[in-house]
Amino acid sequence: MATREPQQPAVRIVTCPACKGDSVFGPGNPYRPFCSERCKNMDLGAWASESYRVAASPPPEADEPPPEPAKPPH
Ligand SMILES: [Zn+2]
Repeated sequence: MATREPQQPAVRIVTCPACKGDSVFGPGNPYRPFCSERCKNMDLGAWASESYRVAASPPPEADEPPPEPAKPPH
């Protein structure tokens, strides 16, 4: 009984998370799942800058002055 199993290719085509294009997911592409070094750097740069921005700027709050302590009635 010789069943020919389809050979699983080592290289697949996936969607590049950065440019949504075809990306070679295999040993020949060190930037996988990205399609190129540029896309990888672009994604990492966006992630880094965003996290930096979030960490650098505090949330917009404390717009009102703090409530004054209640004074005792005179
Ligand atoms: Zn890409």
